[in-house]
Amino acid sequence: MSEPSRPSVPPGLWQKCPKCRALLYVKELERNLRVCGQCQHHFQIGTAERIAQLVDEGAFTELDDGLLPANPLDFPDYEEKLVRGRAKAGQNEGFIYGDAVIDGVPTVLGVANFAFMGGSMGSVVGEKVTRALERGADLNRPVVLVCASGGARMQEGIVSLMQMAKTAAACARLKATGNLYIVVMTDPTTAGVLASFASLGDICIAEPGALVGFAGPRVIEQNLKIKLPPGTHTAEFQLNHGMIDLVVPRRELRTTLGKLLSYLAPATAAADVDAPVAVAVD
Ligand SMILES: [Zn+2]
Repeated sequence: MSEPSRPSVPPGLWQKCPKCRALLYVKELERNLRVCGQCQHHFQIGTAERIAQLVDEGAFTELDDGLLPANPLDFPDYEEKLVRGRAKAGQNEGFIYGDAVIDGVPTVLGVANFAFMGGSMGSVVGEKVTRALERGADLNRPVVLVCASGGARMQEGIVSLMQMAKTAAACARLKATGNLYIVVMTDPTTAGVLASFASLGDICIAEPGALVGFAGPRVIEQNLKIKLPPGTHTAEFQLNHGMIDLVVPRRELRTTLGKLLSYLAPATAAADVDAPVAVAVD
């Protein structure tokens, strides 16, 4: 049966803000770094876009792109979900990392992608986070990790949960070398990721309005049979209760990271002459 004819509006021209319901012109939204101009809602963004927003022009070299997960529990349909995740997110796994330069400071940068199976942490995400932290320690560079995750990946069961201990141990090893570790929590940063490497930064930053918490508000209310006050799981609530250090709008994130890196990791900035060469970020 043929589709009924409709007024011709090119697809992808407009996008509705999920918070204020305003209809946003996509090109304007992109110019605004995918922040709603009406209510300042910060849309989720992909890794390539995030990297392009944060690093000096072209200064990112991805590492270990070829790491792929096994299916240790023989979990039904896991392989198909991975295939769909790759198609949706446009990358092999839910996290990428590599060498970057942020405001002139050589840095190890890792970025999670919520579009890949909810940013969930399985063996590969955990391994890449660990390698990013270990690279910072080995090369004497600061590490910046941008988080977005619903938690551990259930399809890998206990192997996923083991990544919490592994990444937390890597954080401790990085700190023992005296190198700076900055976390950027984006919407959402929750569960096993928040309960491991995402809350262990020397400085923990969050984007405005980001959902930040261990168990979600609905889960808490249903299990404890209580009513939570509004806004308990927002970045602003966590800031007011001392759980994070800064809430930084996306437009100011690059400048803020640059200042923190310059102030707190100046030795590595001055000493590192082998900064990564320019690599295109598409
Ligand atoms: Zn809005």
